[in-house]
Amino acid sequence: MFKKFGLLISGLIFCLCSGCAVNPITGEEQLMLIPEEQDIAIGRKYAPEVEKEMGGRIDNQRLQNYIDYVGQRIARVSHKPDLEYHFVALEDKSINACALPGGYVFVTKGMLKKLETEAQLAAILAHETAHVVARHASAAMSREIGIGILLSAATSEKIPEGVLVAADLTRQILGLKYSRENEREADLAGLSYMVRARYDPYGMVETMQMLQSQNQQEAGSVDFFSTHPAPQNRMAYLMQRIRTRYYGLGGLKIGKEDYREAVLEQLNNENKPLLNSR
Ligand SMILES: [Zn+2]
Repeated sequence: MFKKFGLLISGLIFCLCSGCAVNPITGEEQLMLIPEEQDIAIGRKYAPEVEKEMGGRIDNQRLQNYIDYVGQRIARVSHKPDLEYHFVALEDKSINACALPGGYVFVTKGMLKKLETEAQLAAILAHETAHVVARHASAAMSREIGIGILLSAATSEKIPEGVLVAADLTRQILGLKYSRENEREADLAGLSYMVRARYDPYGMVETMQMLQSQNQQEAGSVDFFSTHPAPQNRMAYLMQRIRTRYYGLGGLKIGKEDYREAVLEQLNNENKPLLNSR
């Protein structure tokens, strides 16, 4: 009894001293060493680095507007609708997507070319938005990189000397792995955002199927899997959730035509001058 009480008190003191935050998705306390205000500073600081590391922004305003439109539709129905979100498409040919703390979400050209509908794009953006909302990146970064380095890097112009150069730190951020539990949380919260934004949640299952068959055809071709669990288990719980919670909803958007016009045709047009000049 006393032992339990002692544990409770020391747990409480630990939380009070080191900072806990309520995860808005689960409603549970999670250990959080980075103050929430710092999320935006860290995101703002590293977004240009991530963009540079992944080939820069795709130079097509129509395509960028569309990615942002779909992302904002998701963000507005998330657990943190008031945060300023940025959804950006990057030139990188790998099949990937990632998010920085504070509302910065990126998707690669390689991923965009493999998707077929707006609902599938919404699935990727919803999963990443849920990571932002639950502050998974901040938790992983403070655990793996070290709170001092991160905060001084976010608030000062220069990364502290002799610690890490910016590019190394960016690579570390891009390689961060979340726990299986975090991924499941992002999948299921993402699914609920899709439905609230009136997207067909089955788009998330299709995206998993695409990633899986892509990886089977060409092992190691999906960079997303270097930081994410294999899709088999994820498809099972997504299907279960769709069957039990979202079955029979009408009028949900799939958006095959919209996606083709705003993304696939834009990316194909991009290649045309090159082909003609041969
Ligand atoms: Zn994830």
